[in-house]
Amino acid sequence: MTAPHTSLRSWLRHLAASDRLAAIRPGVALEHELAAIAKRLDGRQAALFPRPGGHSIPVVSGFMSRRAWIAEAMGVPEARLLSQFRAAAENPLPWREVDPAAAPVQQIVHRFDGGAADIRTLLPVPTHSEHDHGAYITAGLVIARNPKTGVQNVSINRIQIHGPDRLGILILPRHLHAFFAAAEAKGEPLEVAIAIGVDPLTALASQAIVPIDCDELEIAGALHGAPLPVAKCLTNDVRVPAEAEIVIEGRLLPRVRELEGPFGEFPKYYSAREEREVIAVDAVTHRRDPLFHTIVPAEMEHLLLGAIPREATMLAHLQRSFPNVTDVHLTVGGVARYHLVVQLRKTREGQAKNVMLGAFAGHYDIKQVIVVDEDVDIHDANEVEWAVSTRFQADRDLVVIAGAQGS
Ligand code: MN
Repeated sequence: MTAPHTSLRSWLRHLAASDRLAAIRPGVALEHELAAIAKRLDGRQAALFPRPGGHSIPVVSGFMSRRAWIAEAMGVPEARLLSQFRAAAENPLPWREVDPAAAPVQQIVHRFDGGAADIRTLLPVPTHSEHDHGAYITAGLVIARNPKTGVQNVSINRIQIHGPDRLGILILPRHLHAFFAAAEAKGEPLEVAIAIGVDPLTALASQAIVPIDCDELEIAGALHGAPLPVAKCLTNDVRVPAEAEIVIEGRLLPRVRELEGPFGEFPKYYSAREEREVIAVDAVTHRRDPLFHTIVPAEMEHLLLGAIPREATMLAHLQRSFPNVTDVHLTVGGVARYHLVVQLRKTREGQAKNVMLGAFAGHYDIKQVIVVDEDVDIHDANEVEWAVSTRFQADRDLVVIAGAQGS
């Protein structure tokens, strides 16, 4: 076990020193070309794009596109990835507020109140897929405070650039949605901040599946082994990672909806154009020489960010009833959401079926569960198929649950 990597810049230097960061030729187009190059390198090398579309801010992508890299960032062997994440989620570490003068992310400030600032020229936001409506922020940690308790929440939401100071956002019915619903019911906006360019462990922590009023930035601190330094936004009360590269400060507007999408999403299908929530931008702050992080949708960085916290949660859920469950994996072919493989140290006949039912109850996204013995490497699709082909008989071993909720 080594010390966790707590800084994006030191992590990128670490990748570069081991030939895992490709320096791309300067000036690739922000529209389609950048995403295509990052996709080509997916899972092999992260990509750094200087002067993308002629913009002075470089774009970086794919720096957490392998499970082994994420374990390395945590400072643990790959076999301990899920247990380490779970320990952090169960033992959050409160953050530490620093003076704005000591927050790198507030070195440069662009205020939008005068009407001259334009997010479309300030930031190098790529357009990823062929039929996307336009440029999207895909690696923004959206941070907001619960209007009732003041406790923060962090989530990654896809964010479309609508105009110079307007963003469209997809908000699924989870914690941010609950905060905004409470504000909107009173006719009030909800203050938000969008942090772009954070270290891999803070990005991963943002995806933890924890109850409302568990601040994911405290899980980032636990993964770091030290309280996360945060700074108060300049135009609102949200606290943001002080070491982030870029922060957008703004407000979710009550009773305003505008068309968002289409956008190529994680299952490699487009989501439809629909009326969705809108953020008004109040300020952009960033480091003197910031980096802009983009996640190419449906590629490994995107899939792993979702999969690892889900796997950790599913493993904990199953082990409460079945302590002889030894590991779980959401397969890449199942877009890291829909197909689960469970490794079981079977002690009684029939147990695998109970485990399957437990897994389906554990998350409504799960559409297929395969339970294998301990000698099968669940991260190797060939070994899993070998187990199915030699140890499974459909007439007695297959269970189909009809009519349940699912994707
Ligand atoms: Mn949450």
